[in-house]
Amino acid sequence: MRNARFVCMPRSVEEAVAAVVEGGANPLAGATWILRAPLRGEALAEGYAVLGGAEDLCAVEIGEAGIRIGAAVTHAALSVALVGVEGFVGLAQAASEAANPAVREVATVGGNLCAAGFAASDLAPALIAAGAEVEIHSAAGVERQSVEAFLAARATRPPGWLMTRIFAPCSARLSAHARLPLRQAGDYPVAILSLSIERRADGAIASARVAVGSVEPVARRWPGLEQALEGQTLDPDAAAEWARARLGDFEGRDGVEAPGWYRTQVLPGLARAAFRSLRAQV
Ligand SMILES: Cc1cc2nc3c(=O)[nH]c(=O)nc-3n(C[C@H](O)[C@H](O)[C@H](O)COP(=O)(O)OP(=O)(O)OC[C@H]3O[C@@H](n4cnc5c(N)ncnc54)[C@H](O)[C@@H]3O)c2cc1C
Repeated sequence: MRNARFVCMPRSVEEAVAAVVEGGANPLAGATWILRAPLRGEALAEGYAVLGGAEDLCAVEIGEAGIRIGAAVTHAALSVALVGVEGFVGLAQAASEAANPAVREVATVGGNLCAAGFAASDLAPALIAAGAEVEIHSAAGVERQSVEAFLAARATRPPGWLMTRIFAPCSARLSAHARLPLRQAGDYPVAILSLSIERRADGAIASARVAVGSVEPVARRWPGLEQALEGQTLDPDAAAEWARARLGDFEGRDGVEAPGWYRTQVLPGLARAAFRSLRAQV
């Protein structure tokens, strides 16, 4: 890579960890974020470890307990792997609707979660709604933490770490992903709402996980709406009203695509769309 002093090509997770944690290389996955570093006024790193050659980082494994996603799995590969997998409709929607087909072919799950300062990740809220965890290797060892906790601390993590896998538990939960790009495709969504619900025998909502992305600098859960949904039916218009009543829970970020107030105001519409998607699944 121009101006980078070294580029290495690890062939396994172990080699990738060694290159990043001990060798001082910066992870390079699909490079769709890295290649625009100069546009953001950021310097390129001294060296890069290209993750795509490590087969075990590029695999999706689906077991009875859950799914294991290699950090270098692309959006396109993830959406194919999740076809027909119960409980992951929302995550599959996020992987297949983000960006555009060319970007989805190369941009990875790890890159989407790890890009510092990137607020509009589609996979982040979808993985939070799915109850997913990430595995991180660093000089301190291997740790596993929730996607939400990882994102909240991402900006302050000292360099020299590698995300290797993402785990999401299998469940009978219904899930959906709703996003609002200002154009049909290719630009970042101004707001994203992902959710998953567990239903009682009578069809009412037993528990909900709702995550909002792109509204604030970091994606996070929406506890107020989660509580309001408990015991309710799958009513899209009511969901929009419950969301509208709780917009004060967010402080929208101003950005080139939209002002902060607009990002929060579209959340009721996204809640309605997500509920329509849930209803279509029953
Ligand atoms: C035209 C366009 C439209 C887009 N639209 C959307 C959209 O609608 N929704 C959306 O979510 N995204 C969108 N994106 C952003 C895109 O999804 C991100 O650029 C992408 O996810 C980054 O992934 P990557 O594999 O290319 O990461 P890279 O560019 O390779 O890396 C990004 C950052 O993450 C670090 N990194 C990568 N992998 C790891 C790892 N395993 N461990 C630790 N650090 C790591 C790198 O060092 C770097 O700092 C769009 C991008 C483009 C170019």
